[in-house]
Amino acid sequence: MNQVTLSDFHLTMQVLDNIDAGVVILDKDHQVWAWNSFMQAYSGITSDRIIGKNLFEVMADLPVAWLKQKIDSTFKLRMRSFSCWEDRPSIFHFRNFSPVTGGASLMYQNMTLTPLKSLNGEFSHICLTITDVSDIAKSKTHLRESNEQLTHLSMTDRLTQLYNRGHWEACLAEEFERCRTANMPSTLVMFDIDHFKKVNDTFGHVAGDGVIRTVASMLRRTKRQSDIAGRYGGEEFGVILPGTSAELGLYFTERLRTRIEAASVAVDVRSINVTISLGICEWAPWMQGYEHWLELSDRALYHSKQNGRNQTTVFSKELGDGRTRHQQKLCS
Ligand code: GH3
Ligand code: MG
Ligand code: MG
Repeated sequence: MNQVTLSDFHLTMQVLDNIDAGVVILDKDHQVWAWNSFMQAYSGITSDRIIGKNLFEVMADLPVAWLKQKIDSTFKLRMRSFSCWEDRPSIFHFRNFSPVTGGASLMYQNMTLTPLKSLNGEFSHICLTITDVSDIAKSKTHLRESNEQLTHLSMTDRLTQLYNRGHWEACLAEEFERCRTANMPSTLVMFDIDHFKKVNDTFGHVAGDGVIRTVASMLRRTKRQSDIAGRYGGEEFGVILPGTSAELGLYFTERLRTRIEAASVAVDVRSINVTISLGICEWAPWMQGYEHWLELSDRALYHSKQNGRNQTTVFSKELGDGRTRHQQKLCS
């Protein structure tokens, strides 16, 4: 090496050792030709221990098949390629010491693979550049988790952890549209706790909340995974039973009703027993919209209330197209 190239080499090595990224140069047999300070510092392997050796023999915990395939295809295509932390968080299992938390965690990495030409013009080597993107990855992950949490909160009722009214109604609207095209039955159930005002008056609001929570948890345990349950209002609930006829829905409502009737909520030394009244309505093509479906289920529920409570009514056209329970209450 003459004076000029030796000086160039010396400068280049200084640059390589001072950049804040890992630089590894390999030949086609995966033998290491360069291993900069970044790689030495994080792997604990000095360059004299790895240069001239096969990368995969010295670094035992690399994703061998994946990385070999990536290297080979970069050679074959003679084009730069890239690996993003979102697809593979960590290629070299380095620890990252966070100045914020003071703790260590796995370093998230992006990697670029660049084919290198020798003086004879042949693609003989490849350069792996590894950048530490832990900060970006952590803030992006944190943002995603916060968004998921916010989405969850925006659709969940705080007292019962069931869907809140807004989200549940959106599910109902979706189910209504699905029924228009799918050749499958679907049934809507609305129910309301009987004489709940009396529970609040006798035992207090906090005990009342406990009753609502208990009813919600019994609903959760009684319904199928695919059934969609929500808290519609104070002590009123809605359940969508996709793929279920009113006749089969009646099995569900009776199981729920009898379980709630048999349960009791402990308040101090006393216990509270409640019952529920339910209305069922199976989707039919003549219904005008999900609000209409809801209104007809509510009418069936009102019939259960009128008929003595603690029972289920299946909607039929004999119940008429009169006012809903809410409207009737307002007028009475
Ligand atoms: P009915 O059998 O006709 O349903 O009689 P009811 O007494 O249950 O009557 P209604 O459904 O109109 O009353 C519901 C009561 O529920 C009124 C309200 O004070 C109470 N309530 C609504 N939301 C909550 C809540 O989150 N917690 C508690 N403890 N009470 C609530
Ligand atoms: Mg009630
Ligand atoms: Mg009510």
